[in-house]
Amino acid sequence: MAPDDRSAPILLSPPDVGPLEEAYLASALRSGWVAPLGPDVEAFEAELAARAGRRHAVAVSSGTAALHLALLALDTGPGDVVVVPTLTFVATANAAAYTGAEPVFVDCDPATGNLDPALLRETLDRLRTGGARIAAVLPVDMFGSCADYARILPICAEAGVPVVEDAAEALGAVRDGRPAGAFGRAAVFSFNGNKIITTSGGGMLVTDDADLAGRARYLATQARQPVPHYEHTDIGYNYRLSNLLAALGRAQLARLDTMIARRRQLRERYAKLLAAVPGVRLLADDDAGANCWLTTLVVDPAEAGWSAADLAARLAQERIETRPVWKPMHLQPVFAGARAFLTGAAERLFAHGIALPSGSGMGEREIGRVLRTIEGFVHGR
Ligand SMILES: *Cc1c(COP(=O)(O)O)cnc(C)c1O
Repeated sequence: MAPDDRSAPILLSPPDVGPLEEAYLASALRSGWVAPLGPDVEAFEAELAARAGRRHAVAVSSGTAALHLALLALDTGPGDVVVVPTLTFVATANAAAYTGAEPVFVDCDPATGNLDPALLRETLDRLRTGGARIAAVLPVDMFGSCADYARILPICAEAGVPVVEDAAEALGAVRDGRPAGAFGRAAVFSFNGNKIITTSGGGMLVTDDADLAGRARYLATQARQPVPHYEHTDIGYNYRLSNLLAALGRAQLARLDTMIARRRQLRERYAKLLAAVPGVRLLADDDAGANCWLTTLVVDPAEAGWSAADLAARLAQERIETRPVWKPMHLQPVFAGARAFLTGAAERLFAHGIALPSGSGMGEREIGRVLRTIEGFVHGR
């Protein structure tokens, strides 16, 4: 961006890459390990497993692939049910659909947007009474705040249902002293372009279960049997991450804590600006362990006198990108008719939420422009 270009667009969460990423990529290229696998994949897996407090990690081509593999490794298939929060990115529900299982949606806690534990218990009871085989529950760590695992894990254990943590948005977050990715039988991360770290596209499955990791690794490499000729007894997938992208991921991971610190600073600036504004709150604002991936406002239009959409429109005039909270899965045409256990919380967050620019690469000029625009908007109402 030219320094004098005051109207350059400000994006929600663009990739934050620089000289370290360049050096790691160049070194991977020069090493001759371009693709598919290589030493950077192994090192990235080891480093990410350590960060998530897990024994095993499998680097794959996307977070969606990691979710799909986790479900397949748990033997999910047609006739099964997979419990998914209705408030999530579509990938969580799609992964269930890929296996032929039926996604069943559950509403969220209005304060955090994360899976509502009491409603989850009721859902599992109802599904079991109806005779369903529940293959897995997939809690999502919304916008970088871990779900309430202290309540969710015992509920699922009691029902005998494995948990796969969708930590796609939550790398580096902490809950109850444990890192995101440490909860449940397995967990997944995404390194898509706008996530907290990026490999331009990529994901990771982490677990303490050696058999599950082995099964996922096997399915991710076309289910090739360990014999010299190409022998296959299962349908497999081409889901592995390339060595070049793993090198990029290692550079990003080395900078993760710095990037989280910057996102937290941005969140604090937004919080300070809006603290005295009636009818406005931050989603999950009391979560000190969040990685602050996206700072999200929830606006009560009756109290504030303006809506999240009004603010989004004003910011768009200044070429400042915002995004609504995920449109709930039970409202998606593709999942019309799916079973859903609802309180209305996700629909309200969809109607009243707005995610603000939160990228760790955002400079002082840019955050200043966003804050001034919001301030002008609020005071002009
Ligand atoms: C981004 C995301 C995914 C999917 O990750 P990709 O790497 O884009 O496939 C899954 N779940 C959630 C909640 C996400 O935000």
